[in-house]
Amino acid sequence: MMKKLNIILICVIHSCYVYAQNLIIRGGNIVKADSNISIPNKAIEIRNGKIYSIGVTSNEKNFPTITLHKDDYILPGLFDLHAHLKLIYEGQYKEDTITTPLLYLANGVTTIFTCGDVDPEAVAKYKTNVSLNRSVGPRILNSGPYFGHGNKEWSDSMSKEEIYQTIDYWADRGVNGLKVKDISETHLQYVIDRGHKHGLTVTGHLHHKAHPEVGSQIAIPLGIDRLEHFIGGDALPGNTTGYTEIAALDLSDPLIDQSIDLFIDNNVWFNSTLTVIGGFTQSQDEWLKYWVDEKKYWTPYAQSIVNTNPKRWNPNREKFYENSKKILKRYYDRGGLISMGTDGPLILDFLWVFKTPGFNTHREMAMMSEIGIPNNEIIKIATINSATSMGLEEKLGSIEKGKLADIIIIKGNPLEDIYSTRSVHTVIKNGEIYDSRTILAQCEGKLGPESEEKWFKK
Ligand SMILES: [Zn+2]
Repeated sequence: MMKKLNIILICVIHSCYVYAQNLIIRGGNIVKADSNISIPNKAIEIRNGKIYSIGVTSNEKNFPTITLHKDDYILPGLFDLHAHLKLIYEGQYKEDTITTPLLYLANGVTTIFTCGDVDPEAVAKYKTNVSLNRSVGPRILNSGPYFGHGNKEWSDSMSKEEIYQTIDYWADRGVNGLKVKDISETHLQYVIDRGHKHGLTVTGHLHHKAHPEVGSQIAIPLGIDRLEHFIGGDALPGNTTGYTEIAALDLSDPLIDQSIDLFIDNNVWFNSTLTVIGGFTQSQDEWLKYWVDEKKYWTPYAQSIVNTNPKRWNPNREKFYENSKKILKRYYDRGGLISMGTDGPLILDFLWVFKTPGFNTHREMAMMSEIGIPNNEIIKIATINSATSMGLEEKLGSIEKGKLADIIIIKGNPLEDIYSTRSVHTVIKNGEIYDSRTILAQCEGKLGPESEEKWFKK
């Protein structure tokens, strides 16, 4: 009888371990980005997926324990707030809720905002599965569909009621924010007003094809919360896309600083997404280079088509990239609010080569260091600042008592070398432990379309 009970107890403990939630982390060092120091870790105790105590623990409950080495550094889980799950090829867009999210998680990105879904129902379903532990993945903050011409079904003649109804529907479905892409001023006002009524933040890719005249100079006074890709406002003529106009920008134009100040005065957050901007160039900048063979995660078919389809290569991008780096530095120096966003989905039509979601988040961090942002500030951008920009700073973004236990462990001190974030080996989300190498091994050969036939099949 006694033996049977022991077996049952072992099973209970074992399932507790698999679905984690309770955990003790001993050893290593805790990185404190706020005060720009790291301190030796005595113990972090996690109970029911939350940080229960830091520095003291009795371990009377026999929780599973990880013991770290001297060269291990403990950070909050990373955010990526422009983290599409989509794959793009030959005019078709599909959401990948299998491999892309695993690549984020393996890289220590424990929270993503999907920033405009082409198949919002699929993303919403996946988010539910992750939250119920039916699927493995990062914490999903979903956006619902694009609002604006980023959505193929959008029209400038849509009524206020129609737009409100769509927002109401997605707010009821529990989206975490809204994304506008290429939208008229009138429609932008509708989306911001209705989004805010539901407590949802709104971000935007503006200065685009149908409405190049609508940029930060219009969106910020209307109350937008975050912006992607472009700082420029009135310095951009508003005749064509932000990509082209930033490439042609005269950086001595005082309207650029005026645009930066408009962000600052209104506490608007900026996702620079220089990963996607620099990734489309032939730049030899250190931060863009490979440190692992990312190609091996792609399907053989995706590997074969990405190489043979550089048809949308645009030399303008080099200038756009160089100007964007300088503007970002200026924005930072003046006190602009930055969050983390890479915008690096699998785009197989561009000369994008093999830069891969998840790895790109580390690229974006290294880019910030290369342009002169201090490492502790970069860590804040990728963690607490991003959490704050989504209104989640009470729950996520730092290692503090009472917060959700989203923690990553890397080798080396990122305050000394930001490139050390690339060595993430252990990822904890909600107190559950994931081994990066195991997840990455599962992803080999899986990212992207499997074959021509399967991709074009409806
Ligand atoms: Zn995007």
